[in-house]
Amino acid sequence: MSEALATFVNIILPLSLPKLYTYRIPRELENEIQVGMRVAVQFGNKRIYAGIIHDIHDKPPKDYEAKYILDVLDNEPCVSSLTLDFWKWMAAYYMCSLGEVMNAALPSALKPESQTNILLNPECDISSLDLSDREYLVVEALTRETTLQIDDIVEIIQLKQVFPLLKSLHLKGAILLQEKLEETYKPKLITCIKLAEKYNNENELRLLFEQLEKKESQLNVLLAYMQLKHERPNIEKKFLLNTSHASESSLNTLIKKNIFETYPIQVDRLSDTGQTAKESFDLNEAQVIALNETKKHFEQKQVVLMHGITSSGKTHIYVKLIEEQIKIGKQVLFLLPEIALTSQVISRVKKYFGDAAIAYHSKFNSNERLELWQKVHDGSAQIIIGARSSIFLPFHNLGLIIVDEEHEQSYKQPDPSPRYNARDCAIILSKLYHCKTLLGSATPSFESYYNAMHDKYGLVKLSQRFGEIALPTIITANIAEERRVKTIKGNFTEVLYHAIDEALNKNEQVILFQNRRGYSPIYECLKCQHVVKCKNCDISLTYHKYNDTLKCHYCGYTIPLMKTCVACGSHELALKGLGTEKIEDELQILFPSARISRLDLDTTRSKKGHTEIIKSFEAHDADILVGTQMLSKGLDFGAVSIVGVINADQLLFFPDFRAHERAYQLLTQVSGRAGRRSKQGNVIIQTSVPQHHVLQEVINYRFGTLYANEIEERRKYNYPPFSRIILIKIKHKDYRIAADAGYELFQLLHKRLGQYLVGPETPYVSRIKNFYIKEILLKLTKDPHTLNLHKTYMKECIQKVLESKSYKGCIIQLDVDPL
Ligand code: ADP
Ligand code: ZN
Ligand code: ZN
Repeated sequence: MSEALATFVNIILPLSLPKLYTYRIPRELENEIQVGMRVAVQFGNKRIYAGIIHDIHDKPPKDYEAKYILDVLDNEPCVSSLTLDFWKWMAAYYMCSLGEVMNAALPSALKPESQTNILLNPECDISSLDLSDREYLVVEALTRETTLQIDDIVEIIQLKQVFPLLKSLHLKGAILLQEKLEETYKPKLITCIKLAEKYNNENELRLLFEQLEKKESQLNVLLAYMQLKHERPNIEKKFLLNTSHASESSLNTLIKKNIFETYPIQVDRLSDTGQTAKESFDLNEAQVIALNETKKHFEQKQVVLMHGITSSGKTHIYVKLIEEQIKIGKQVLFLLPEIALTSQVISRVKKYFGDAAIAYHSKFNSNERLELWQKVHDGSAQIIIGARSSIFLPFHNLGLIIVDEEHEQSYKQPDPSPRYNARDCAIILSKLYHCKTLLGSATPSFESYYNAMHDKYGLVKLSQRFGEIALPTIITANIAEERRVKTIKGNFTEVLYHAIDEALNKNEQVILFQNRRGYSPIYECLKCQHVVKCKNCDISLTYHKYNDTLKCHYCGYTIPLMKTCVACGSHELALKGLGTEKIEDELQILFPSARISRLDLDTTRSKKGHTEIIKSFEAHDADILVGTQMLSKGLDFGAVSIVGVINADQLLFFPDFRAHERAYQLLTQVSGRAGRRSKQGNVIIQTSVPQHHVLQEVINYRFGTLYANEIEERRKYNYPPFSRIILIKIKHKDYRIAADAGYELFQLLHKRLGQYLVGPETPYVSRIKNFYIKEILLKLTKDPHTLNLHKTYMKECIQKVLESKSYKGCIIQLDVDPL
């Protein structure tokens, strides 16, 4: 066959390659391949990867000889053309490779590669399986070697086409694929029981009954089986034993006598405890109006922003919208900022939809991910509640995407690339699926609000709390003043102290917010002012009292608390600054009988975890909950009468163009935890600048005023939503190289993009994990055509810097729409 008539495919490999790689299709596979299927290919150091067919063509690559693909792994496309379009958009928009998107999108079980370990599934009874000769060879080798890699198996069976073999062994439950991360792919198997084939014959069955007449226990098993057979398709061994009250030995005897047979079934790890009961409810008048307005807007607009104050009952409106989609057989994606912190919302949604709603956790292991992938793919999963990564699931008839708390920063993936924002991706996704997106928040992002104000999105307002409880009263307490007149106790102003005291006396609960974990962020010598810093990062170490250590919050470096200054030898060292641990400490002294709980990264990482802490506070097992911004994410407690903010100053003066927007969001959201179900709550914000305009807007719930002021500032200085920001980070272990590369890149960019450039600058934390960092910021125009030209030019400049010998080892990262 001549080269020109051969079939070639461009393959997306799960690697950060700037280009797609071309492979050749062996003739015998030519009729099997389709775009979107996975194929096994060799790349680089003899390693084998699963790649995705991007396109099929007849053009041999110019610069290298195309290798043959080794195998086709799928019978039908694993990735639909729609999903491929989504990936392409993402790679172009976030300036990354398709391989990086593939890596983020596909569950690892769908990406077998050379180094995947293969082992026998201990839960499987191999002898009961029907294996081909080749399969048998592999299984036998595995009994001897315990684990094998793909290359070993190629050798054993003397055949490159190992993947179909592994796939079939995997489906039969015989083997496990172990990921590099030591996760195990383990289909969960349950042993079931069935009567041997010959007893389908009535005569045989009658004879069997006669045969067992005298063996009571065995007869009971048979009777129980006959009854259960009508009720369920598969009868679990355990269930049969329970129902028949027979001993395991009598059942085993029946199996030995070939009267009963066992077979494994793969069960679903995703469904919970069979919760199917639906609880119905009615919307109140305001909710009904908001629901109808939303639907009306959807007739015209693809995106609707629901601006509903805290506790207005947005979740219940979502539920009604989801219900309508389910009725017409559509899938719904319900995005939440953080699954662990939003367990209350999830259980509310699950209450109405039972197992039709699946919550997709980041804690899912690789098999659960694969199962979910398959269920979304075949449509059996209808409602997916998930955090940002669930935008990658293979939906096929998506009807609606809900993005709850759309302003939340956790929708943005900071690392690794693609550094995407799931809210923005959701909007693109819904465009591709011709469906709708509902954004919901009590404190919308200014970008979304701007779009709503300019008629791009529909806007629905909900300005009444459910049950008509008034919004909490917010006041400020002046820390500076109380320090001066010495009425402050530790970090508690008189105002806050009395409010807490009163609440505790009435057996009401209190939430206290301090946006910093640990005890103190700074440990300083009083003699020479030396501050103890991380050895890998340019940041001071935070003291943690619970284990008496100093810890880096960027790289995890930890040392015991020293008592002597390493610089001058003085013993006079002091802890400065304030974290949640210290607040907890002070509280315990001020309110010795109060039960205090803490919600921050340190406590949620420990055994208890988010859910436990939230549940126990809900059950009033604690009186005071101290926490970081985790407190701001939609928690709903009934008995909280006081919310206190320990110090709002930092939020107000953070050097970032979004600082005021963030401060407003955080303070309003934290305040919203007060007085939700019973009566109006009170919020006390401690600050040394009570007159600050942002605090005034928070106190008076003037979102609109703040927005109007800030949007003018942004227009003036050309910040989003008026520009598109791209942040370039240049990193190197050698400071000089990072600085020089940064400067050179700046010079190159300056030739064409000078007017958009800021930098190169040294970020606030200038070294992380031993990499020195320089940053260049571009405030580009939003016009897509111009933006694309600029992106292409940026890539050329970056390529030039990376190719230069002087900058060897340099890492350049791109972040489109950085936080
Ligand atoms: P939001 O998300 O807008 O802050 P929530 O959805 O948490 O508000 O609702 C606030 C409270 O009101 C919750 O306790 C919720 O269960 C309750 N609630 C809201 N709408 C209804 C309704 N229609 N029927 C019963 N309870 C409702
Ligand atoms: Zn560090
Ligand atoms: Zn010193």
